[in-house]
Amino acid sequence: MSDKPIYVTQPTLPPLEEFIPYLQKIWDNKILTNGGPFHQQLEKALCDYLGVKHVALFTNGTIALATALQALRVTGEVITTPYSFVATAHSLLWNGIKPVFVDVHPNTLNLDPAKIEAAITPSTTAIMPVHCYGHPCDVQAIQKIADNYNLKVIYDAAHAFGVKDEGGSVLRHGDLSVLSFHATKVFNTFEGGAIICPDAKTKLRIDQLKNFGFVDETTVVAPGINGKMSEINAAFGMLQLRHVDAALAQRRNVDTAYRKGLCAVPGIHCLQDAGEQVANYSYFPLLVEDDYPLSRDALYQKLKENNIHARRYFYPLITDFPMYRGMPSAQRENLPVATAAALKVLCLPIYPNLTLEHINLIVQVITKVSQ
Ligand SMILES: *Cc1c(COP(=O)(O)O)cnc(C)c1O
Repeated sequence: MSDKPIYVTQPTLPPLEEFIPYLQKIWDNKILTNGGPFHQQLEKALCDYLGVKHVALFTNGTIALATALQALRVTGEVITTPYSFVATAHSLLWNGIKPVFVDVHPNTLNLDPAKIEAAITPSTTAIMPVHCYGHPCDVQAIQKIADNYNLKVIYDAAHAFGVKDEGGSVLRHGDLSVLSFHATKVFNTFEGGAIICPDAKTKLRIDQLKNFGFVDETTVVAPGINGKMSEINAAFGMLQLRHVDAALAQRRNVDTAYRKGLCAVPGIHCLQDAGEQVANYSYFPLLVEDDYPLSRDALYQKLKENNIHARRYFYPLITDFPMYRGMPSAQRENLPVATAAALKVLCLPIYPNLTLEHINLIVQVITKVSQ
């Protein structure tokens, strides 16, 4: 039993005194938003850090997703996953787009490329996959389908900050990728988000769309939204960047300790580790299989009794919420893998300052029932 509650995550915060000089600058120049100096600095610093061409900062990931769809003029139907945070599908509804749900692959819980083609109709204009838990999607297979059918690809990369594959940042794939810098994510600016895009022209359109559609002082070219990141969030992002490598390394240690303690436990299935790829260890999902002595929900309760607050991400599925569940593609028969995963998954606490003592306690609670 832990004396203090252990939550699934804890936001990473640098020492407060390190933030004061940043605030002093804002107080001195009195620029609070509208693409000020910290906003420009952070866009540039993130391009360098992530190894991408263009970054457009946003007030949060959800507005960034909705704007990404507008930037590419996506309409009609979009193929997406039911196994994600609800904002993925909400961004489609906000644009009057019909989500078409396709099942996930059992190894990765990412959109299964083998099932995409059957869901394409003449109204399909794009695919919106999610790099779930920061594990890269099968980007090659998805791109091949997109090329064959002339579809756009917008990745919800909210979990994928800093993730790399053989060729570099996973964020370079598709037409656009969208990040979230929410408090619960590996890199946070309290609230925040970004669109990663490959060319300057698209970046310009995105910048207009996040500023009401303004092109200059007197010209408005689109019904844009206010999606700008404020100077205080951007300044905080600059400070966070100085600490992010250390935070990612600490997360890796937590991941390693969990794998050592849990992956051999009968009935506990850890999702594949990153292998050769650079991961960000944003989540530690495990699947509680039928041969484990407790059900997933019973284990969740048992951890709770020990003051350990794991989370059932992603349960319920997006397709179980009332605004989606009537859709033909949302029916469970269409989504057997996602449906099963949602009933088995448990995300364990993972954050940079999670102590070895707490990790051992969590491992002990899970292993003890199986002996
Ligand atoms: C966090 C998250 C979002 C939303 O990001 P916000 O910055 O909270 O708006 C979207 N999609 C996924 C998969 C997420 O995890």
